[in-house]
Amino acid sequence: MEIEYIKNIKSQLQNEIFYFEQIINNFTYHILSTNKIINEHYKNFDVNMFKLIIQKNKDTIEKLNNELKKLCKHNIIFDQIDLDYGEKQQEICYCEYCELNF
Ligand SMILES: [Zn+2]
Repeated sequence: MEIEYIKNIKSQLQNEIFYFEQIINNFTYHILSTNKIINEHYKNFDVNMFKLIIQKNKDTIEKLNNELKKLCKHNIIFDQIDLDYGEKQQEICYCEYCELNF
């Protein structure tokens, strides 16, 4: 089913974003290191390349979401989620097939 396929790709792109954000965080954390070996490791590190990939992934996810909106014969589920350790609740609605929020 094409919807499942798109959902899979979306989740892969999302995982990549998470992974590249960690790489950027590691870089930022080590950039002031006084250790020669670590300095050498991060020399010529192209942080902008990772930022570009993250942005590209986000753009593609947005396009795929628009595709899902058109493709899916939505079945909207209303649910409540707990906030603040169960003291507050928020109503959410999402599609049971494409999992988009509405
Ligand atoms: Zn749907």
